[in-house]
Amino acid sequence: MNALQPVRGTSDLIGDDHRRHLHVIDTARHVAATYGFDQWATPIFEDTRVFARTLGDTSDVVTKEMYSFVDRGGEDVTLRPEGTAGVCRALVSNGLTQSLPQKVFYAGPMFRYERPQKGRYRQFHQIGCELIGPSEPLADAEVIACGWDILTALGIADGVVLEVNTLGDRDSRDAYRAALVAYFSEHRVGLSQESQHRLDHNPMRILDSKDDADRRLVAHAPTIAPYLTEAAAAFYTRLKDYLARFGVPFRENPRIVRGLDYYSHTAFEFVTSRLGAQGTVMAGGRYDGLVEEMGGPPTPAVGWAAGIERLSMLLADDRPVPRGIAVIPVGDVAEAAALEVLQSLRHAGLRAEIGYRGNLKRRMERASKTGARAAVILGEAEVGRGVAQVKNLDSGTQAEVPLTEVAAHLR
Ligand code: ATP
Ligand code: MG
Repeated sequence: MNALQPVRGTSDLIGDDHRRHLHVIDTARHVAATYGFDQWATPIFEDTRVFARTLGDTSDVVTKEMYSFVDRGGEDVTLRPEGTAGVCRALVSNGLTQSLPQKVFYAGPMFRYERPQKGRYRQFHQIGCELIGPSEPLADAEVIACGWDILTALGIADGVVLEVNTLGDRDSRDAYRAALVAYFSEHRVGLSQESQHRLDHNPMRILDSKDDADRRLVAHAPTIAPYLTEAAAAFYTRLKDYLARFGVPFRENPRIVRGLDYYSHTAFEFVTSRLGAQGTVMAGGRYDGLVEEMGGPPTPAVGWAAGIERLSMLLADDRPVPRGIAVIPVGDVAEAAALEVLQSLRHAGLRAEIGYRGNLKRRMERASKTGARAAVILGEAEVGRGVAQVKNLDSGTQAEVPLTEVAAHLR
């Protein structure tokens, strides 16, 4: 039989790939905790309506990218393409809509049927933060500052720029939509097929098009600024003031709209030129209508998600390979004592391994090949005297240490 391969657009995380991946999650979780975010884990698949209802009928994700199937019991389910909808569903399902604010961190796999390329996969992974409850722009600024601190802690903030925009409130958007329809209708023939369809159903989505002809027209399209209500403009001004106060550098980009339908007011992306076409590493915004869509009361919220693969690619260096201790018995008699030392090391929190076969020379070779930092060698004579030889494999120095003190000696 031919060896089986991973499904197109999926990959295995092994060795340094997985160390980088975990470093991103651990760093993010740690920084998010300093802002008061606690981790939630929601299911990887949900009732299809959790996404179909909320991401918008015309979003790329819903129309082209979802992994949906009918299970054996006839339920229509979907592998989650993003994390926010599931978190809002969980908020409502667990009766937490009266216990606000909720500050949620999550990390895990997401699934989208996309054309795989560098930085774009069918199973990918996200970290994300959701701040559910507050309607004040301070919340938006905190969520963004948290993202910025995570990029800083990962050592990659230098090559990344924060771009912010406002999508206004409903009145602003209605007025802006009308202006966009007027503009794009005039240039209808120049639009891609897809954007002609968007023009009839969701014209703001044209601003997010990746088609070259569309982009040329988008460059001259009206921006939202003149259509903002006084309240929406004031919200945006306060956001920018808070960002300045937090010391988070940003630039305004009036072209940012989010790929999903549920956003209002704040929209933002952290972008880099270091990843080619897939330059957005972190993206988010305010989604005040989503919890209500999920069957809860009207509940303001703001959050972001970041692609772990894209963040990992930006990390400067490989993560250090963990270095352990090789325990090496010489002769059958020493094995019992060796196993005792082995467990004492592990129970002291040290990484310790024992070879399964081979003489002293083979085992020493194996120890240096796996990058062990020390070897604990136990021969019959040593065991008789209740000691072991502990060899530092970096310096080559060796010391005789009582068996009961080996763990303390190596810590
Ligand atoms: P894009 O415009 O690149 O398709 P998007 O708007 O669909 O992005 P979001 O839904 O905002 O992306 O997801 C947030 C982040 O998740 C992205 O900025 C990116 O870092 C990551 N991401 C999204 N889709 C993928 C994917 N298919 N493969 C890897 N990472 C992804
Ligand atoms: Mg996408």
